[in-house]
Amino acid sequence: MSGKSIRARAPSASSPLARRVMIANWGGNTAPEREFRRALHQAGLRYRKDQKPEQALRCTADIVFPKQKTCIFIDGCFWHGCRFHFECPKVHGSWWKEKIQANRARDKRQTLYLRKSGWTVIRVWEHAINPKSLPRLVTLVEEALGGCARGRSRRKFGTSRTRN
Ligand SMILES: [Zn+2]
Repeated sequence: MSGKSIRARAPSASSPLARRVMIANWGGNTAPEREFRRALHQAGLRYRKDQKPEQALRCTADIVFPKQKTCIFIDGCFWHGCRFHFECPKVHGSWWKEKIQANRARDKRQTLYLRKSGWTVIRVWEHAINPKSLPRLVTLVEEALGGCARGRSRRKFGTSRTRN
């Protein structure tokens, strides 16, 4: 592997395909994310969005409950390398593969760091958010906020195959 960072070796965005892939998957307030936030709000939960849980950590959580030290990440299937939906772009494939693997490793590091710092971290696959799953997701968050989630399975929501 070359010593240059993944970012430094990024395929030029002038490559039309790379550009299309980047734009299509940019995320940031996707529909499932909006629906999730709306459901939490309807349940009476008040949160901050797109906040850094820990200043030292260069990462922004999609939904943060600062008082309860609970944060939620909604992971897009492309950037976080979902095993059901991630399809590696054919052009610059090896770069993308490395990039997504690095993203996954970073997700793990961040989750670990936050948990060590006393945060309850909930990671949800974007594909797991749908009208049917939303009530369960809200319950999951309520339990986490109530401290009941401690010691329970911390498997990422949406890891098992669910039909959307
Ligand atoms: Zn997925």
